[in-house]
Formats: sequence, structure tokens, C-alpha cells
Amino acid sequence: MPTKSINYRFKEKLRSTLGGEAYSYCYQCGACVGDCPAAMYSADFNPREILLQALLGDEEALTSENSPIWNCTNCYTCYERCPQAVRPVEVIIALKNICFEKVTSAPEVRELVSSVRSTGRTVKITALSDRRRKELGLKEVKMVPIEELEKLFEP
Ligand code: SF4
Ligand code: SF4
Repeated sequence: MPTKSINYRFKEKLRSTLGGEAYSYCYQCGACVGDCPAAMYSADFNPREILLQALLGDEEALTSENSPIWNCTNCYTCYERCPQAVRPVEVIIALKNICFEKVTSAPEVRELVSSVRSTGRTVKITALSDRRRKELGLKEVKMVPIEELEKLFEP
């Protein structure tokens, strides 16, 4: 059976990233899995397994483009369920932030971020959506003040 060494550098990185501090308190009870909506709909998603990979320092599995973390809906159910106050959802958010630093976030997510940066919206307003809004008697969607948006993104 192939062996894999523990990546202590990555474990320390996760511990020092906002939200990731308590990951090592996980004792693999699985209480975070039962009511997790993402686990119900995707056989590939399991917050306990994500925590196990974090405990093993599996940087490659957790921070690659096809990492399971991108299936988390941020519903915070696991936050309520965990008896160890690991705050699994916040560990997952910390992992997502590490992915952004490494530029290994999922392409769909990068696209969303780029749309928010350039238009202030996650969904593009098209001529068709404008027309449908008019037909439904809804107000015209106003442009987002881009200069103010840019200030929000300033480091
Ligand atoms: S926040 Fe994510 S991991 Fe936690 S219960 Fe919701 S979908 Fe599952
Ligand atoms: S509920 Fe908490 S301690 Fe239990 S497996 Fe999930 S993260 Fe680990």
C-alpha cells in the first residue's frame, strides 16, 4: 500500500489561516455529516473526510482545482453540530482562501469573482433579462458604481 508523509507545513498554514485554527480538535465523530445538505446530494462530499485530509495535511487533495471543498454550501449546519467546536465550515472557508492565494480555486468560482469585480454582480444582466424584467413590471437594474467597488477590493 502506498504511503504518504504528513505535510506539517500545510497543517501549520491551515492553523494560522482565519477560520482554520481549530481543525486539529476534530476527533472524526462524523456528527457534521448527518445533516450536511452537500453530503446528501453528492457522494463525493463529506465534511468529516475533509477534516481527515486536513489532519493528514493532504494539501494536494484539499487545494487542487477539483477539491471537494467547492461543493460546500456554507449553510453552517456543521458549525452547530460539531461537539469539538471545530467549526468545519470555517475550516472549509479557510481552505478556499488558501486556494485563492495559490490560484488553484475552481474555474467556475474564479469566473464568479471576476464577474463581481467587473460588474458587481454574480449574474450578468443581458438584453433578454432586461426585457423580461420590463414584461414583469420590475424596475430596470442600475449599474453598480465600479469605482466604489474597486475600493472594496483594494488590499
Ligand atoms: S456548511 Fe458545508 S460542510 Fe457544513 S453542513 Fe453546510 S454544506 Fe455541509
Ligand atoms: S463533528 Fe467536528 S469532531 Fe466530529 S467529525 Fe465533524 S469536525 Fe470532526
